[in-house]
Amino acid sequence: MGEKYHGIPREEIQWFPTIDREKCTKCGVCVEFCHQNVFSWVDDDPSVSNPYGCIVGCTGCEGRCESKAISFPGMRKITEELRKLKTKYSEKGP
Ligand code: SF4
Ligand code: SF4
Repeated sequence: MGEKYHGIPREEIQWFPTIDREKCTKCGVCVEFCHQNVFSWVDDDPSVSNPYGCIVGCTGCEGRCESKAISFPGMRKITEELRKLKTKYSEKGP
């Protein structure tokens, strides 16, 4: 069984970083920084290989990337998505 966030299967929550390949300098800071092991090296590129390991609401790596290559969906979007998912999963009961 997968991870859950407030009763919602983590895989249903689209919160994780995206790397802009045009901006990324492959410095590796994100790979080293994230303790959730969201990033790893794939074919010499830092990649988001474990997206659902990302802590919902965390943006820690974004500020660490000097090239501003890391982005997230945006708080308004994720708040709305979570609101809908919470309703969906509370209707199903415990
Ligand atoms: S910290 Fe930014 S520039 Fe460095 S590898 Fe990660 S995404 Fe690329
Ligand atoms: S936001 Fe936090 S948990 Fe998610 S990938 Fe970045 S450092 Fe890791």
